[in-house]
Amino acid sequence: AADSAMYHAKTLGKNNVQFYSIGLNEVVRQHLLLEAGLRNAIRNGELALGYQPKVDLRTGHVVGAEALVRWNHPDEGLIGPDRFIPIAEETGLIVPLGDWVIMQACTTLQVLAALGIADFVISVNLSPRQLRQRQFVEHLAATLQHFHIHPSTLELEVTESQLMDNPADALEALAQLKHLGVRLSIDDFGTGYSSLSYLQKFPVDVIKIDRSFLGDIAGEGNAVITRAIIALGHNLKLEVIAEGVETREQLSFLRDHDCDQMQGYYFSPAVPRDILRNMVCSGLRMAV
Ligand code: C2E
Ligand code: MG
Ligand code: MG
Ligand code: MG
Repeated sequence: AADSAMYHAKTLGKNNVQFYSIGLNEVVRQHLLLEAGLRNAIRNGELALGYQPKVDLRTGHVVGAEALVRWNHPDEGLIGPDRFIPIAEETGLIVPLGDWVIMQACTTLQVLAALGIADFVISVNLSPRQLRQRQFVEHLAATLQHFHIHPSTLELEVTESQLMDNPADALEALAQLKHLGVRLSIDDFGTGYSSLSYLQKFPVDVIKIDRSFLGDIAGEGNAVITRAIIALGHNLKLEVIAEGVETREQLSFLRDHDCDQMQGYYFSPAVPRDILRNMVCSGLRMAV
């Protein structure tokens, strides 16, 4: 990898050789460092799962949460998933990492169920490589059984672009997962050029409006797109959730246009399991 970085640097032109080769080598060095560390991160207990609450826009109740992974790196501090999920995906480490995430999420569902909270939904993000893994569905079935999890309380989020990469294969994988009874969600919807005919065939329960559309919700373009996605979802009998809600204005717009749920810093970032449990058990409600 270091050689190819040098190669690219050289092709950029004589004057740029040194500047770019240092830049790229640094990127490669960081990458290798993270890759080596990631191999031990799970074993060393360096990964942590945060839970970002999802709020029902009619009642204001916290009805679910998305599990988001973090890496507490011994030297680098807290690292976000955007920096290490791609490396995990490339190296295949996403498989054990993804298993760990699902086991943690199941443990949290178990904790809530023991407190009498039976219908709370936790979602986890799936990487393409996990979805393609042969044993994935079987393995998930065994995990659900082991933790006594009601399948409809676990939701799997798959991005729209991931599905559209190979829609025929995705359709088959989703059908098998749906057969287990888990909920399925299309993440980052609106950014991945969905074929509408596939959208209708995918056995999904939820579409998640990408947060890029909420940026300037008062601006004509995004308001029109957001309303169209909500209508499309509802016409297909799907629930619609918006991610990345940061302001009262966005919240009001979504509520006024019948979006079902919201998730975002306006209500809460991802929090540790104990805090999520307290939020849910105290019956915390958001003013909607
Ligand atoms: P995503 O699934 O679209 O998750 C939403 C991201 O938006 C999260 O970033 C979340 O912290 C952030 N976010 C939530 N509310 C707000 C808001 O109000 N404003 C803004 N600006 N951002 C908000 P995070 O945790 O850094 O995760 C980034 C991506 O990493 C996720 O995007 C997901 O694709 C991936 N990811 C996270 N955890 C996992 C995992 O366990 N497995 C896999 N395969 N991917 C994961
Ligand atoms: Mg997600
Ligand atoms: Mg998303
Ligand atoms: Mg996103």
